[in-house]
Amino acid sequence: MDCLFCKIVAGQIPARKLYEDEQVFAFHDIGPRAPVHFLVIPKRHISTLLHLTEADNALTGHMLFTAQRLAKEQGCEEGFRVVMNCNELGGQTVQHIHMHVLGQRQMTWPPG
Ligand code: AMP
Ligand code: ZN
Repeated sequence: MDCLFCKIVAGQIPARKLYEDEQVFAFHDIGPRAPVHFLVIPKRHISTLLHLTEADNALTGHMLFTAQRLAKEQGCEEGFRVVMNCNELGGQTVQHIHMHVLGQRQMTWPPG
């Protein structure tokens, strides 16, 4: 499988890992858009949000809780943003679903 994030999970490409368990992997984004910017991904390859099924509800809930827990660990208890892009039109560039977690600066709305 020629997937960048699967290779990071497999340890074939280095990443600044924050956390991992049986289901999820979290690491700092290589091109941070905020002082805190990390990604939470499922270890299993799921290419876009459109490929989720109801059977993935527990997994995505676990991703979100992991995002919250790590955000607090990274000093973002005052506030942070979670973003998931879907497909090219939604701004997705890596075809393996990921939650962006951004913090330690004032976020604005709407995003660009
Ligand atoms: P998206 O545009 O939502 O698909 O986000 C992909 C994110 O992956 C971008 O914020 C990139 O900076 C990040 N990224 C790409 N390659 C790597 C890498 N090797 N390690 C960490 N983050 C990466
Ligand atoms: Zn993958």
